[in-house]
Amino acid sequence: MLETKRSYVQRAFDEGYVCVFPTEAAARSYVVDYVLSGNKQAILSERSISFDTFRAKFLEHKEDLVPANSLIRSLFVHQALEAGLPLSSLINPLYPEAHGRFISYIASILPSLKQACDSEVLGLLDDQMQHDLLLLYQQYQQFLQERSLFEPRYAQPCLPPDWDASVRYCILFCDTISSAQQLFTSLGCPSWLELRPTPCAKLATLEVFGNHVMEIRTTLRRIRKLLSSKTPAHSIVIGCAASNLLLPILQEEAVLYDIPLVIREGKLALEYPSGRFLNRIQEVYDDQFSLESLKSLLLDPGIPYKDRDLHHRFLRRAVDKSIVHGSLKQKDQFTEMLADRDLRSWYRSLKQSIIDIVTASDIEMLRRKLNHFQDTYFTAEQWVGTEDEDVYSFCLDAIDHIKQAMQRCSIASYPHVFSYLLSYLQTKLYVPQQRKGGIAVYAWPQVAPLIADHLFVLGLDQESSATIERPLLFLPSQIGEEHRKEIDTTRANLQAVSLGDGNVTLSCHTRRYEGELLPPSAFLEEDALLYHGQSPNLCEDPYLEELALYKQGPSGPAISLESQRRFFLTARKTALLERRDDYTRYPIPLDLVKKLKEERDGKALLVLSPTKIDLFDRCPYAWLAHYLYGVTKETYDVERVDHLMIGNLLHLVYQRFFSQIVDFDPALLEQYRSLLTSLFDSTLTDVYGSEGPTPSIRSWIIAEYRQKVLCILEQEAKLFSHTRSILFEQELSFSYDSLFLHGRIDRIINLDPPEGKSYAVIDYKKGEAPMKSIKEKLSSYQLPLYRALVKHALGGAASHAAYYSVKEGRYRSLWTDDGSEEALLGDELLVNRLDSLGESVQVGAFMATPSKQHCSGCDYRSLCRRRFATR
Ligand code: SF4
Repeated sequence: MLETKRSYVQRAFDEGYVCVFPTEAAARSYVVDYVLSGNKQAILSERSISFDTFRAKFLEHKEDLVPANSLIRSLFVHQALEAGLPLSSLINPLYPEAHGRFISYIASILPSLKQACDSEVLGLLDDQMQHDLLLLYQQYQQFLQERSLFEPRYAQPCLPPDWDASVRYCILFCDTISSAQQLFTSLGCPSWLELRPTPCAKLATLEVFGNHVMEIRTTLRRIRKLLSSKTPAHSIVIGCAASNLLLPILQEEAVLYDIPLVIREGKLALEYPSGRFLNRIQEVYDDQFSLESLKSLLLDPGIPYKDRDLHHRFLRRAVDKSIVHGSLKQKDQFTEMLADRDLRSWYRSLKQSIIDIVTASDIEMLRRKLNHFQDTYFTAEQWVGTEDEDVYSFCLDAIDHIKQAMQRCSIASYPHVFSYLLSYLQTKLYVPQQRKGGIAVYAWPQVAPLIADHLFVLGLDQESSATIERPLLFLPSQIGEEHRKEIDTTRANLQAVSLGDGNVTLSCHTRRYEGELLPPSAFLEEDALLYHGQSPNLCEDPYLEELALYKQGPSGPAISLESQRRFFLTARKTALLERRDDYTRYPIPLDLVKKLKEERDGKALLVLSPTKIDLFDRCPYAWLAHYLYGVTKETYDVERVDHLMIGNLLHLVYQRFFSQIVDFDPALLEQYRSLLTSLFDSTLTDVYGSEGPTPSIRSWIIAEYRQKVLCILEQEAKLFSHTRSILFEQELSFSYDSLFLHGRIDRIINLDPPEGKSYAVIDYKKGEAPMKSIKEKLSSYQLPLYRALVKHALGGAASHAAYYSVKEGRYRSLWTDDGSEEALLGDELLVNRLDSLGESVQVGAFMATPSKQHCSGCDYRSLCRRRFATR
């Protein structure tokens, strides 16, 4: 009869063995399984132990010796390198400043040194490497001895004197445990211990998907189906190879499919918000207080800050002032350019606090500085009662571990002990204490021996499924395999996972963002591969079904998710409900209209500028959002090239030039050129200082615009010879019915100086002109409004109106004659627009006018909800 996992394990229990399993999780799960389905339905929990617990029983050491751990190893390496240990192959002696980077690597090879130095492999290494390994080994042993420590990997397993040989042990799935055979041999192959390999089994079929998303979604749809057919969540188990890459995606997708997961191995402590906080502190320091790193630290919603408004104010100010970088020095761009005393002093204290934490060199100092940071910047409750509180305590406990290790190694201080703490935490998983219910997820190969009614294992490609113990990985590549003492347990693990009592679904994918992958050759040899060109259960996807329903297509077999139902019911009461106060469809109450008006000369008038008219023309609701609700676009990033500021620079250059020359004489073109060039240089310095904004962008601005600004002279000679520039940046206004119209005109030219009343209005554009001629539909009312302003405020005629495009180096005149068809059409279109605008405002009609053209690039899409889609 073919053996299953259950029969294989229960037979060993029934035979009276104490069963040894590859992992603690397997030991626990089989003892529970025996109680639920075994012959006797009861068993002592001591009858099931993990291999690590079993092996620890044979590690010989004296009572007073303490086992070395990764902290002690790295402290030893740090101390040895500080003392000038003459290594020449493991590190480069020419660059002592780089030694810190090798500490964790050298510390990681210490446990394998005995194996390397005792075996014949040493003779195959070059002299320098031999010297390094022997010296390191000798120094390490001396270090351990002097400090009453021992290295667990060096200890030879041996039977304790009081060992009870009447108890029989059986190591199950022994071929999946790399050191099982070695332990058995070291103990002298005793009769009370049996090694029982995984029963032979044909490999289960491995499904191969095109990419990881397809694989994960197919699996989640299958699980969804099981859950909806009332399969209990505890009878489903997921395994995940390449878990560092696939787990985050699996978790995200599982949320979409309403599948609760419980990651059994936990996550790295630094991936929780409270752990992330420590990482962010280090990043700010390493990045020399860059704006981006400060944003990550100060805007992290997982950190319980006391005064988030202050953080927002500080960052907004920095963005406004285009500050990109701080520095580790006392003075930096923030202290120099914030121009706000409170923010500056707050930044200085924050900066000092972070520098103190990162540069602390003794543990007590680090603890004090961290406490100071918490007391100053966190709310009083901090993370009380949350999982983050536990994680934070876990991280702070690590400080105690470092302290104990330092005491054990007689080290009083360690430079930048905070980054040492982080590198230690980088290797520590935090396993939540209170487990929520859900489907257990285990990493590969821990999942291989587990028993479950429905077992899904993802990501089993050739590379990720390989489980090879490589104790001498650090040896140079020319050392052959026979000397590397590698133990490959891949086949045994694949066999163990295939030996299912229930349904086993194995899968892998051939492509992900990191590159191309291959299925394991073992499956190819057994012809156990099933390729999927497309997901086999795509028709069961509730989201695709939703889209099909939306398009009124035929409904498929997919069952909608609880969350979809909930969202839909909520949306029916909100977003999908037509409401009277939906002002994208209905007029606003008239008392709100009053708020839009301002008191001018005793009358309530609607104040309009060209920008306001153009926005109203595009979409009245966008206008309402901006001018009634006050919703404005916030900038969160500092633009490397700030186009607005460059536009201001160019305006200022032309304003200074034309106000200096006043009358334009084409005979003086050469003089004008040198004047305009020198004005460009001096204005650049006025706007950006002598070195700003950055050396490279300054060079770019000069290269791009210093010559370009001169193009206006030729154009000016053609259109405005012997005219006089009379007004610059001139604000003009007049009342029109219930409207108050105003505008700031870049330049007004008197075309028949000095007495004439014929004018030209000019608007400078850094880019292209918004329109090149007047047509029935205006894309901007700016110049027609300027014409009206000149008429009412100056009592003259704007008989010429033009944009000057710096980019194109030319004027774009909309009309050149007071009585021209274009000028009159502009007047008419403006009046029509103002009349209809006034009427709309009177009745509160600000309804949205969605269209591809209007909505593209609109900042209010998520507010009006008229032109957006969600998934
Ligand atoms: S997205 Fe379209 S409809 Fe909505 S406010 Fe903007 S322009 Fe108007």
